[in-house]
Amino acid sequence: MNKFDVIIVGGGLAGLTAALDLTKRGFTVLVFEKQRYPHHKVCGEYVSNEIQPYLEHLGVFLDQANAVVIDTFQLSTVKGKSLKVKLPIGGKGISRHAFDYLLYKNAISKGVTFVFENVDSIAFKNGAFTVKSGLSETYMSTLVIGAYGKRSSLDKQLHRGFIQDKSSWLGVKAHYKLDSFPDNLVALHNFRGGYGGLSKTETGVINFCYLVSYESFKQEKKVVDFNKNVLVKNPFLATFLKEAIPLFDQPLSIAQISFQPKKAVENHVLMCGDTASLIHPLCGNGMAMAMHSSKIACEIIQNYMDGIYDRTYMEKEYQKQWTAVFKRRLWAGKQLQKIMLREDLSNFAMGTVAKSPRLLKSIISKTHGKPVIC
Ligand SMILES: Cc1cc2nc3c(=O)[nH]c(=O)nc-3n(C[C@H](O)[C@H](O)[C@H](O)COP(=O)(O)OP(=O)(O)OC[C@H]3O[C@@H](n4cnc5c(N)ncnc54)[C@H](O)[C@@H]3O)c2cc1C
Repeated sequence: MNKFDVIIVGGGLAGLTAALDLTKRGFTVLVFEKQRYPHHKVCGEYVSNEIQPYLEHLGVFLDQANAVVIDTFQLSTVKGKSLKVKLPIGGKGISRHAFDYLLYKNAISKGVTFVFENVDSIAFKNGAFTVKSGLSETYMSTLVIGAYGKRSSLDKQLHRGFIQDKSSWLGVKAHYKLDSFPDNLVALHNFRGGYGGLSKTETGVINFCYLVSYESFKQEKKVVDFNKNVLVKNPFLATFLKEAIPLFDQPLSIAQISFQPKKAVENHVLMCGDTASLIHPLCGNGMAMAMHSSKIACEIIQNYMDGIYDRTYMEKEYQKQWTAVFKRRLWAGKQLQKIMLREDLSNFAMGTVAKSPRLLKSIISKTHGKPVIC
């Protein structure tokens, strides 16, 4: 059978939670994912607890996957001025290798269909979608969710505005072994042109993931040189890189990360997760937002399928709710990133915040939501 109620393009966190949610509601779901599970991804691997109630509602329990409890946040400037606070909601440390695979296994057990191919085109005609990959047959559906992440050739096919702009950010990630690193800590360390996060994952290894402007990176060109010449200027990163044992042959990297605003609905496709917009990673909240956007989309899809909304109303409602929930957080994340990346401002801000950890907690709250009620 090549016809489904909903086709989801992209089986990352947004796509997989949407698949679980829609199947639970009784709809037939097909997920297209271009990579087989499990696989590593460039990500800080710190998941905010705000999404835990929704995951549990879907039958996904991070504790069963040995996710590490994280309740403390450390921030440091390029020169190593640092402070620590208890996180208002806290989170879990779990690798994307384990997290996406856990959701995938759940989805398979609930009857979600998967096709492991890269989708080349999504077309909408006469109230139905046709989705094609280069290899497989054509699939049809009543609705399509776009959950294919930060950037894809599909954005070109859908003529999305942001894809025209060259984006100047690079993400780099690798796992390390360092037994002395505390279980409960997520640390964010600043360096010239970027910042890096450190936290433990379910296997006890430490994930080190950083975001850097291409402007700063291009002076060194190679990750190994960038680590050696730029990251080590921050004394915390210098100590970490000296003591920790790298576990990947090569770090993973992704280029062209865009923080431009995007639309949550394009050509009748409901966009979820990073496909709808990406929050600055220093907020440590992109994963929770990705899954939360899927929850909003699934609730609206239910109303459409029940005949309560027509297609036009459903699309407007999704864009409206998406904006109401996420717009302020994205704005707050943008302002924070601006401060972090200007050495003078980050030193000044750190001095101010150091006098009042309550202020830091309040800033963190502005980029996070309340626990997602189900
Ligand atoms: C450097 C960095 C650090 C970060 N750190 C954190 C953090 O610590 N905490 C946090 O909460 N968030 C963090 N984030 C953000 C977080 O990684 C994303 O918000 C999250 O991965 C979004 O999930 P998603 O499902 O939207 O996209 P993804 O996880 O990227 O999933 C998209 C999926 O679509 C597939 N795909 C793409 N194109 C196609 C196609 N044409 N056909 C079929 N499949 C396709 C891909 O293979 C992929 O599996 C970070 C981001 C960056 C860049």
